[in-house]
Amino acid sequence: MAVIMDGKAIAGELKRDINAQVEDIKKRGVIPTLATILIGDNPSSRIYVGGKERDCREVGIEFRLHKLSSNVREDELLELIEKLNSDEKVHGVIVQMPIPGHLDGKKVVASINPEKDVDGLHPYNVGKLWLGVYEFENDLLPCTPKGIMKILDHYGIDLEGKLAVIINRSDLVGKPLAKLFLDRNATVVICHSKTPKLGNRTKAADVVVSAVGRRPSFVLTAEMVKDGATVIDVGMNHIDGKLWGDVDFEQVKKKASHITPVPGGVGPMTRAMLLQNVLIATKLAEGIS
Ligand code: NAP
Repeated sequence: MAVIMDGKAIAGELKRDINAQVEDIKKRGVIPTLATILIGDNPSSRIYVGGKERDCREVGIEFRLHKLSSNVREDELLELIEKLNSDEKVHGVIVQMPIPGHLDGKKVVASINPEKDVDGLHPYNVGKLWLGVYEFENDLLPCTPKGIMKILDHYGIDLEGKLAVIINRSDLVGKPLAKLFLDRNATVVICHSKTPKLGNRTKAADVVVSAVGRRPSFVLTAEMVKDGATVIDVGMNHIDGKLWGDVDFEQVKKKASHITPVPGGVGPMTRAMLLQNVLIATKLAEGIS
């Protein structure tokens, strides 16, 4: 039976540490602050933003919400981002994705000051990651991949020489995670919706990361996993009011050596990493080492 990797507990520990650091910074007269821009009234986005607000308050980070209507013009949005970029009291800026189709997402992300890019998606921060000129603890890396690395480290899972198969090629998850895995000397295979015989790929892997989010049409089953593999479930599938991952947890946990649950695995770590990124951005802006 696999070790269930408890992301919620690790995130709890991290949040206590972040809270202590935030309180120290406040003694210098600085309040770590995250500004979030929410465009339109996508119900999932509202829930995610609400979660970010609660997380920030829990650790003492100030949270500012800027709501814009779904038909906001691009120049109006860029003007707000520019205002936040130059506001010394704001340390982190997020534009909650997805944004309406008439707005150019890549242009919007690129307009955020890279030192305030707490999602780690600005081309400057992506470039640092891919060129290998980053410090894992002190640079702005995307939250989900960073959270996954922290879970693996917590459970002492060494990636060197391992075959890692990642089912996802997004900028948010699969691509940055592949680079972090490469930097730990894993051999990495990135799979996606056009990968033939996916099960053959995953069955060979020492580490499988699934971030598909198409349940029930896609489920990572026990037949797709080799004995003793480490399985990381990133998927979030809301079905009949319940949150499910991508993995057939009950069956796969009988074969895997380590597995993350959903809920309580990667999700809480992603949220904790955002708080850590706000702390990193605050230290960067205020010259605190
Ligand atoms: P995305 O951009 O839609 O990526 C989904 C990936 O899955 C794509 O690479 C897609 O391939 C691939 N895919 C789709 N159907 C497939 C199939 N049948 N077989 C193999 N691959 C398939 O979404 P995302 O933003 O990266 O998020 C992915 C999932 O992770 C979602 O469930 C999301 O909610 C979840 N997520 C969770 C967290 C967390 O903190 N737990 C954080 C971020 C995301 P193509 O590229 O070919 O389309």
